[in-house]
Amino acid sequence: MNLDIIIVGAGIAGLSVAEAMLSRDMKVCIVESRYAGYGATGRSAGIATVQMNDALDIRLSKKGIDILNRWRREYNLDEILNTTGLLSIYRQESMMNYTRLLSESGVAYEVMDAREVMDRWPWLKLNTSDGADAEWCIYTKEDICMDPLLFARLFAERLKDMGVEFVNSKADIPSIKAGAERVTVKGIGYEHDIVGDALILCTGAWTKGMNIRGYTPTILKVPLIFFMYEDVDNIIPFADEVNQTYWIPSRTGMLVGADYTGWSVDDAEGALVEGFKIKGVRLYYTDDHLLTYLKHVRELLVKRIGFNVYESKMHFGPISITPDGRPIVGIIPGFRNLYILDGLKGYGLARAPALAYMLTEHILDGTDMMGELEPSRFANDARLPKTVAGAGGGI
Ligand SMILES: Cc1cc2nc3c(=O)[nH]c(=O)nc-3n(C[C@H](O)[C@H](O)[C@H](O)COP(=O)(O)OP(=O)(O)OC[C@H]3O[C@@H](n4cnc5c(N)ncnc54)[C@H](O)[C@@H]3O)c2cc1C
Repeated sequence: MNLDIIIVGAGIAGLSVAEAMLSRDMKVCIVESRYAGYGATGRSAGIATVQMNDALDIRLSKKGIDILNRWRREYNLDEILNTTGLLSIYRQESMMNYTRLLSESGVAYEVMDAREVMDRWPWLKLNTSDGADAEWCIYTKEDICMDPLLFARLFAERLKDMGVEFVNSKADIPSIKAGAERVTVKGIGYEHDIVGDALILCTGAWTKGMNIRGYTPTILKVPLIFFMYEDVDNIIPFADEVNQTYWIPSRTGMLVGADYTGWSVDDAEGALVEGFKIKGVRLYYTDDHLLTYLKHVRELLVKRIGFNVYESKMHFGPISITPDGRPIVGIIPGFRNLYILDGLKGYGLARAPALAYMLTEHILDGTDMMGELEPSRFANDARLPKTVAGAGGGI
């Protein structure tokens, strides 16, 4: 199979790059070892928001939300992508930094005091005092909510209809050979080698196992909790920055969210296991661990709401974090045609589409990538291997 672009991984990063390349008439193939959305994307809470604490992230998210809106129209994703907005609850003094960043990035937002918020969303319980504990909210009304697994699956189908080739490699790719001109993916049980002009790794937390020179992400195992709740009018996604939880009403009638906890794990698959790892000892869920954690998070939630939540379930997903916390996007040092888009932390849904377009313009038009995002910033890290071996067989 001869292609312009090979993408490995069908999460939000890989699907976004595929769409961006398709929009430039490239012949694109996505190689995925499980299914679209299997990784962090399909396990995420599903909010694409601009409420971030860094100016670059806000600009990227704003652009990403514009792209998601365009996809909604062009790919008929109306039922999956919903503009709900996000309401974040802060103490007044800690809110100032966020409003400044949002204003500088040209984001439309509303600031409301506790009484205004409770008039509009009476089920929310906020502190209305005038003192230091007074709570205020920032409402960013363009933010988008989605059922992320359904989105990944449906978007992948739409891209397939538009001509993107999907190859299910069934197992992680054993070998990627990058020559001067072409890149070859071998030995995935596919009838032919897959050969392309360039290959882009969008393997999220699984990138860690690929041993890319200079880049060792941290993998965090992050929980997502689902609560049933009674029929409540006018419920919107909210982030409780005071108690450090976030909650999103899902299409399935559940309230989905968590606190901001993450546990460091060795690899991406370890982040999917239903257990806690504490001080190096893996403790599989005993009812006690599960119940104690759920009780704690439920208490934080009910502090905020005036309705009942009951019956819960939870799952975990991996997030990958670069050593400096910024995404890693661009050419892998030492190669002419191997690229990466990773390190999206817990906020990939809005930023990935923007980064995918930036990377596409870089590859096809030679536009500059931002130095602060490029993989070369880690290439001299003395702690890391000097050779690039990867994907089981060697890049
Ligand atoms: C519980 C949880 C909640 C979250 N909530 C939000 C949220 O509300 N909003 C938000 O913006 N972000 C959220 N995130 C973060 C978001 O999910 C990630 O930033 C984003 O999904 C990362 O996308 P990705 O495409 O880089 O990786 P992934 O979605 O993990 O995709 C990687 C893909 O690559 C495939 N793959 C890996 N290795 C190989 C290989 N060798 N060969 C072939 N295929 C391979 C995997 O199967 C997988 O499908 C959350 C994350 C978690 C875990």
